[in-house]
Amino acid sequence: MAHELTTDEQQLISYAEKAIIRFNTIRQNHGGIDTLYSFILSDSGKIYDGACFEPSIQQATICGERHAIANLILQESYSARIRSILVADPVPSVQNVSTTPCGTCRHIIHQFSTPEATVLCMQYMRQGTTWVFPRIDTYLIKDLYPYPYTPNEHLWD
Ligand SMILES: [Zn+2]
Repeated sequence: MAHELTTDEQQLISYAEKAIIRFNTIRQNHGGIDTLYSFILSDSGKIYDGACFEPSIQQATICGERHAIANLILQESYSARIRSILVADPVPSVQNVSTTPCGTCRHIIHQFSTPEATVLCMQYMRQGTTWVFPRIDTYLIKDLYPYPYTPNEHLWD
């Protein structure tokens, strides 16, 4: 399922690597821990950020992917579409497979994606005082979610 990275995807990855270091530095300076981030390249060419939101009530947690999608919708409307979404998960050591979006996020990514939208699943880890990005696995959302659930689809037409 892996594909060769497009120029757009390489730009998204490069943006994500810088943003992860910036956000993790902020978190670290305030006693926080590394977290899962997500970055979206929209059909308009703009990039939106998201991070896993973990308040004290567990069921109120929002995945990084959905945080980024909410920012996309806020800035561009419900007709905005994802061209590529990157998910970056902190790992203690290089894993054989990178974390993929959860079922709920797969549905919502699919809902707001172009037909050929890609999902880039990246690992990051600390190395000394900085972070490294040892592995990335690439998918198409239509491969991760081939038979989508379609509740009240007319509402989104
Ligand atoms: Zn999720």
